[in-house]
Amino acid sequence: MKIPPSHPRRESLLVREKLIEGYRKGLVALPGLIAHGRGEAFDYILGEKTHPPAKKAIEAAAALLLLAKHPVLSVNGNTAALVPEYIVGLSRVTGAKIEVNLFYRTREREEAIAEELKKYGAEEVLGVGEDASATIPELFSERRRVSPRGILIADVVFVPLEDGDRTEALRKMGKKIIAIDLNPFSRTARAANITIVDNIVRAMPLLIEEARRLKNMPRRFLEDLVNNYNNDLVLRDMVKIILERLKSISENKIVLEIP
Ligand code: ATP
Repeated sequence: MKIPPSHPRRESLLVREKLIEGYRKGLVALPGLIAHGRGEAFDYILGEKTHPPAKKAIEAAAALLLLAKHPVLSVNGNTAALVPEYIVGLSRVTGAKIEVNLFYRTREREEAIAEELKKYGAEEVLGVGEDASATIPELFSERRRVSPRGILIADVVFVPLEDGDRTEALRKMGKKIIAIDLNPFSRTARAANITIVDNIVRAMPLLIEEARRLKNMPRRFLEDLVNNYNNDLVLRDMVKIILERLKSISENKIVLEIP
């Protein structure tokens, strides 16, 4: 598809193309395309940019991943289609393991996602086939399966684009959760310890940059960043940004571009 460089929705349309391609490659499940639409709607309202509260969450998330003993990056189809290179990059900088964790689990999709990540340099991808032999309590069916070398023993789990049930179940297991979710009202956003309210395609490069910057800082400094972080406040600030943007648009202070 040809999208003119001047098209105001260009970036967003390119991301859609990536997801469609991911669907054709067997990485993305159909409901994943719909879930992306919910995210896009919030991104539209947020002006498709990374706001200061999201930057604060990114800094705290980088610090928490660097402090963790057993950090794990949980990867679903949309994440593998949109940011595979950045998942591998984040895993390298923080030493986190990578695990496939799917809502709609099939062996084919697990393997396709692991292959895709390996194409971008991942050495090990957990959670494929028999490796996902442990279970998360309180979740049903295939969604409960995790790797005993990964999410089961993790102290910090990074769950971009996750659903609320699993986030809550992981929290109940005592894990610290970092989420990326454009919807500040979702159960995932509310249940996570750190919620980055931003598009995954913008947040991932920033998260890697932050992890690189913080990597050589003293442990105490990172602990202070995490301890001083308040997710409720950050979520409320994101809602305020939505309110202010809608108010400005309604008063004609921000004029929306018409393609
Ligand atoms: P919950 O179960 O947490 O209440 P939900 O039912 O909306 O939320 P899902 O539909 O499972 O959750 O997941 C989709 C979530 O992912 C949505 O909240 C959406 O905002 C978010 N999302 C989708 N695409 C992106 C993206 N590219 N970047 C960031 N967030 C996204």
